[in-house]
Amino acid sequence: MNTPKEKYEILKTYYGYDSFRDGQEELIDCLLSNRDVCGIMPTGAGKSVCYQVPALILPGITLVISPLISLMKDQVRALNQMGVHAAYLNSSLTYHQYLKALALAKECRYKIIYVAPERLLTEDFLDFAVHAPISMLAVDEAHCVSQWGQDFRPSYLKIPDFVQQLPTRPVIGAFTATATREVKEDIIRMLNLSDPHMTVTGFDRKNLYFEVRHDKDKYGGILQYLNAHPDSSGIIYCATRKNVEEVCDRLISDGFAATRYHAGLSDAERRSNQEAFTYDETPIMVATNAFGMGIDKSNVRFVLHYNMPKNMESYYQEAGRAGRDGAAADCILFYSGQDVITNQFFIEQNRDNEELTGEALELVRQRDRERLKKMTFYCHTPDCLRDYMLRYFGEYGAGYCGNCSNCLHTFETVDITQIANDMIGCVLTSGMRYGVNVILDALRGSKSEKVLRFQLNENHYYGSQANETIVFLRQVLNYLVLTEYLVVTDDQYPIVKVKEKGLSFFSEAGDFRPVLTMKAARKTTQTPSKGDKASAYGTFSGETSASSGSKKHASAPRTGSAPFESLRKLRTEIARAQHIPPYLVFSDKTLESMCVLLPQTKEEMLTVHGVGELKYQKYGEQFLKLCQELAGDPEI
Ligand code: ADP
Ligand code: ZN
Repeated sequence: MNTPKEKYEILKTYYGYDSFRDGQEELIDCLLSNRDVCGIMPTGAGKSVCYQVPALILPGITLVISPLISLMKDQVRALNQMGVHAAYLNSSLTYHQYLKALALAKECRYKIIYVAPERLLTEDFLDFAVHAPISMLAVDEAHCVSQWGQDFRPSYLKIPDFVQQLPTRPVIGAFTATATREVKEDIIRMLNLSDPHMTVTGFDRKNLYFEVRHDKDKYGGILQYLNAHPDSSGIIYCATRKNVEEVCDRLISDGFAATRYHAGLSDAERRSNQEAFTYDETPIMVATNAFGMGIDKSNVRFVLHYNMPKNMESYYQEAGRAGRDGAAADCILFYSGQDVITNQFFIEQNRDNEELTGEALELVRQRDRERLKKMTFYCHTPDCLRDYMLRYFGEYGAGYCGNCSNCLHTFETVDITQIANDMIGCVLTSGMRYGVNVILDALRGSKSEKVLRFQLNENHYYGSQANETIVFLRQVLNYLVLTEYLVVTDDQYPIVKVKEKGLSFFSEAGDFRPVLTMKAARKTTQTPSKGDKASAYGTFSGETSASSGSKKHASAPRTGSAPFESLRKLRTEIARAQHIPPYLVFSDKTLESMCVLLPQTKEEMLTVHGVGELKYQKYGEQFLKLCQELAGDPEI
């Protein structure tokens, strides 16, 4: 049986990683103890490790069901690079190749086999499967089973049939990045998961920097960015094919190595452009949203949006293709009012689903309009962008992330001493009996029915903060709760009360009183358009990060530094010689840590993030030699 040590050994030897990320270990442990799992993790969180590690420990074969040919190829190539025998069975193989792979599979030559869902019930495949020792079934992109999801694939519905035909039921793991309730329920039901262990990991990707820009000249803004990041690879998303063509042509004529991708190109051109991008030959990809499903290029350093997407789901998915290696990456959206109009047009014209008519169609449109509105608010909010996004996906952010354009540029430190004084005073003198809204209304001098009924209009602090907005006062109140000056009780009718810290603050007057400050969105930055309720989404901006005031964010890793460039050059040479994409040799993150540590021995090299024993055998010595040279270089 497996020992806890074994999974760490595998992680280290094959992947070169020292620790599991959030959620990975519990999913692996469950699968190893024969319990079904459903893992919901955002793109880039590391879903594949969750089924590949148990696959290497379990006695038999693991089948991975995946809908995307390019993704299968990529994963299989990466596994073979790491020294794991893996194969894929899909329509990209000729029949002859397919039979050959199947024959090898029957001899148990592969530990992991990726298979397209439509193959499962074919005669050849079934004949193999019922006679093979299949330990586990991993269902990737499991949301494809749900009609609620955006990529429903009817062939996924055949998975339970397939499982039924097997002599023994393998343990099943389902993985997806889509987290809505309907999709989750569908996955469990449609795949017949038995009492699955659910793991949902946070959607926050701390290494991504978010920014919204309102440049009049979008192309100029993009150019400026690219000039400032000359060696980085990234994607520029555009709303239409026409935009893709225009932007790509201009970039090429301005001397950038760019390529393009959209549904109007031939299959062959799409494929070759994608390869050129993957292999860093043309490190800039200009594309419509047709590009992306299944790209696993880990060193994407930026995702720029030339147009605003139609909803936050699309935006987060596309932006999330940046920084999958965990190193810093930029996600910048170039907004213009025209984008709203274009998207509205798409929504009104949408006839994608012919089965929808009348009321149902109108309902779908209504939802789309609502989602577009929230996407537009994102482009206008003065609050933390990350916070806004996390709230949209039903999580709570800290209010201030320190790694988005709003936190870095539009937040300022404001003195809230007087407001805090009046707020605490109002709560105390009214007997600590009222809820948040009543207190805020009183401070604002409102004549609401409750304020009058409770005679708060006679309170000393009534109207003392009439010049502040209710939104800002609410932020201050939240901040005072977070910092334990106030507390809001947990009852059916929550009441604001003053805590010890608030009492002593209130009782110290004049020069002895400490100045209270908090981080808040600057009030004058952007005037949200009429009806824009953006600020209602992010409620408070507490001082939760010490890194305030800094105007620079950590952008791409030590790219540009001499050692990094030497390491990268070596990586490119090796990749060229072996005809594999550079990131399969080592990721940017690995080069980055190599550059910091400059290992001088094999042991030291093996401590570098992403260098496992097998990778070391392949490339370790070359990189070690270079690191030794770099360490001896007086210039560095
Ligand atoms: P997903 O399928 O969830 O989008 P992947 O499985 O492709 O994500 O993993 C994204 C990246 O994270 C890969 O480069 C992978 O090697 C890396 N990764 C996964 N698990 C770990 C870990 N425990 N430590 C460091 N890197 C990891
Ligand atoms: Zn932020």
